[in-house]
Amino acid sequence: MSNLAAHIDRNAAFAPGKAALRFEGAAISYAAFAQEIARAARMLRAVHGVRPGDRVAVLAANHPAYLSLLYACARLGAILLPLNWRLAAPELRYILEHAEPRVAFAEPAFTETLREAAPGLPAAPLVIPDGEGDAEGPGTLEDPLLLVYTSGTTGRPKGALLAQEAILHNAVMSHHMHGMTAADHVLAVLPFFHVGGLNIQTTPALQAGATVTIHARFAADAVLAAVQSDHPSLLLTVPATLRALLAAPGWHGADLSSLRAISTGSEPVHPALVEAVTARGLPLLQVYGATESCPIAIYTRLGDAAPAPTSTGLPGLLCEARVADDEGRELPHGTAGEVLLRGRNLFRGYWRDEAATAACVTKGWYRTGDIATRDAAGHFHVHDRRKNLIISGGENIYPAEVERVLLEHPAIAEAAVLGAPDPKWQEVPVAFLVLRPGACLTEDAVRDHVAAGLARFKVPRRVVFTDALPRTALGKVRHFELRPLMETARA
Ligand code: AMP
Ligand code: MG
Ligand code: MG
Repeated sequence: MSNLAAHIDRNAAFAPGKAALRFEGAAISYAAFAQEIARAARMLRAVHGVRPGDRVAVLAANHPAYLSLLYACARLGAILLPLNWRLAAPELRYILEHAEPRVAFAEPAFTETLREAAPGLPAAPLVIPDGEGDAEGPGTLEDPLLLVYTSGTTGRPKGALLAQEAILHNAVMSHHMHGMTAADHVLAVLPFFHVGGLNIQTTPALQAGATVTIHARFAADAVLAAVQSDHPSLLLTVPATLRALLAAPGWHGADLSSLRAISTGSEPVHPALVEAVTARGLPLLQVYGATESCPIAIYTRLGDAAPAPTSTGLPGLLCEARVADDEGRELPHGTAGEVLLRGRNLFRGYWRDEAATAACVTKGWYRTGDIATRDAAGHFHVHDRRKNLIISGGENIYPAEVERVLLEHPAIAEAAVLGAPDPKWQEVPVAFLVLRPGACLTEDAVRDHVAAGLARFKVPRRVVFTDALPRTALGKVRHFELRPLMETARA
C-alpha cells in the first residue's frame, strides 16, 4: 500500500546517497533517512504500542527526528500531533486532553512543561533507538496523518485533521508554485508544529527527492549565514521573519545568488516587503492558505508575470477557490466576499468537534472566514479575516488596511486595529501601537498620518500605546487578546 513513507523509500532507491536532510553540519542521506523512518516506526509500534489512528505528540524545536516520526506515523497509519512549544502548560493540557495521544516525544528543554501539562502521559525523548529491521505498516494515503491545532488568533484552538493524500496534493502544489525538483535545496526555518513550516516547502521537498536544511529555530543571522555557506535555492518566511531578515545587519551585503525565490504568507504581506525583496533581484512568492488546507491554496507562481503586490495569486493547481456570498454563490470579480476552498488538500474536519466542522464546511467547501476580492485577471486580494471586519456607519473597514498605513509611519513598529462598540456609528476603529525605541508620537499625529492616506471613517478614533502586541508563533496578532485592553482603554 502506498503511503508517504513509501515515497521516501522510493526516493532512497533512486538516490540513496543524496542528502535528504542537513542539520547542524551533518547530512542524512535518503537511504539513512529511510532507515530512520523504519526504526521510528518499529519503536512506535514495539515500545509504545502505537496502532493505526493513534496520536503521537511531539513537543520540540525543528529536528530531523521530527520528520522521522512524521513519516513513521504515515507508515503505521498513525497521526502526528505537533505541539506549539510556545504554549504554556495549561494551553498544552487542553490540547493533550482533547487529542489523547498515546505517547509524547519532547526535547529536554520541554519535558518539564510536558510533565506539568499531562502528568499521566508517557513521555519519551526525541531519540530514535538503533536497530535494523522491517517496519512495514498498514498506513495508506487515505489515512489521517496530521492533527494540527490552529494557532488561534480568534479563540480556543481546534484540531484540524489532515490526511496523507492532503499532504500529497499540497506537495504537488508546492512543486507547481516553486518549480520544485530533486535539484532544489530548501532552507527550513519556520516551526514544524505549524503546517506552514512543515508543508509549504519541507514535505514537498522530501516528496520531490530534494534536500532540506533544517534550522532548529529561526534566527536572522543564521539564515543569512546559511544562505551564503549552504547555497539553498528556496527559503520560506512569514512577514515577521522577513522583516527580521531585512533588518539584520547582514542583509545588505549578503550574497543571495543561490536563491531562486523567497516565499511568504500567513498574513497580508505589506507591499514594501515585496519591493524590498524584489529590489535584490529575487522574486517574493506569495501563498495564502490555512491549517485546514494543509496549507497551500492560492499562490503566485515562480516565473509567471508578477501580479499586483497586494495579490496572493491564483487558486492552486489542485485547489478550487472562490469569492462567495453568504449562500456560497460565486461573486463577480471586483466584489468582496468570503474565500471558499475545495480540494483534496482540505482537512477531514476538526477533531472531536462536529459542530465546529459543520459550521465552516458546506457541500465540500471550506469557508475560510477571510474576505477577499478578485481583480480583473482573477487574482485574489485578501483583505482581512471576516471576524476582524469593522462596520462603522454602514461602511466596511478592513483593519489590515489601516494597519498597513499605520506601519508606513517611521515611528510605528507594530500596529493592530480593532473595532470598539460605538453608540452612534455601531463600531469605530481603535489602534494599538508599539512605537520604535526612542520614538514619540501623539494621538493626533497618528490620526493625521492615517487621514492623509485613507477615508475619514477609517481613521482610528482612539489610539492606545503599548509595549508589545500579543502574537501567535508565526507573528500574527491575536486580536481577541486585545479586546479586554480596549475596555480598559475606554474606562
Ligand atoms: P492558520 O489556520 O493559523 O494557518 O491561519 C490561516 C489564516 O491566515 C487564513 O485564514 C488567513 O486569515 C491568514 N492568511 C494566510 N495566508 C495569508 C495571506 N497570504 N494573506 C492574507 N492572509 C493570510
Ligand atoms: Mg485558522
Ligand atoms: Mg490560526
